[in-house]
Amino acid sequence: VLEIRNLHKRFGQVEVLKGIDLTMQMGDVVSLIGSSGSGKTTLLRCVNLLEDYEEGMVAVAGEQIGYTERNGRRVRLREREIARQRAMTGMAFQHFNLFPHMSAIRNVMLGLVKTRKMAKDEAYATAESWLERVGMADRKDHYPGQLSGGQQQRVAIARAIAMNPQLMLFDEVTSALDPELVSEVLAVIKGLVADGMTMLLVTHEMQFAHDVSNKVVFMQDGRIGEEGPPDQLFYNPKSERLAAFLKSSK
Ligand code: ATP
Repeated sequence: VLEIRNLHKRFGQVEVLKGIDLTMQMGDVVSLIGSSGSGKTTLLRCVNLLEDYEEGMVAVAGEQIGYTERNGRRVRLREREIARQRAMTGMAFQHFNLFPHMSAIRNVMLGLVKTRKMAKDEAYATAESWLERVGMADRKDHYPGQLSGGQQQRVAIARAIAMNPQLMLFDEVTSALDPELVSEVLAVIKGLVADGMTMLLVTHEMQFAHDVSNKVVFMQDGRIGEEGPPDQLFYNPKSERLAAFLKSSK
């Protein structure tokens, strides 16, 4: 469902991703870990072209994201095509980005009506069932400002998943939360893993990464430093750098 080949990304003079290769199959849960600035968020954002990439390839469900080859040249797709491709992935962010002037259920309905062209009553029913799934049905008419951070994040996750993406991207979704609210959001994600959802996550929660992933990727200075099954990475790291990182993030 996801194929990344030799991905390079620069911000000005600084090369932030220096040739990333990563493949994911349906049902895979892959966690990106690594120190601050190693390129985890940038990698995630290249997958749905929130960041453009200069070199290499990102493909979701067999389609190259953002670009095509024409006469041997790399050509950027039209915005409408890119918008359609973006809808193949769902993303949840550290800061939930809910619309503050809309109730929880309106937030979830918006993309269903606007992008998926669903009728309002069907969108309402779909949104309601996803809010139920994340334990937020009883607060569906609340506005974001009336909800805790953990509750807002659960609404944001429901909003992304309601769109039925092929792949969910989670970018440090618990980093902005008070510690007592972290577990409710992690529990929601664990439930989605149990349902078989395909996910690529950036996380600082090592225990969580260990428990949910079938593969963990350690990012190091814009490269993949080490990757493998969670038990191998967490309990038997090959490199000094990973061992030191794991020690410092306990
Ligand atoms: P963290 O765990 O702190 O979020 P990260 O591993 O996710 O770190 P990125 O956010 O991907 O790292 O950032 C990688 C590098 O790219 C950093 O050095 C950062 O300063 C730089 N960077 C990120 N976004 C931009 C931008 N929009 N313009 C310039 N530099 C950027």
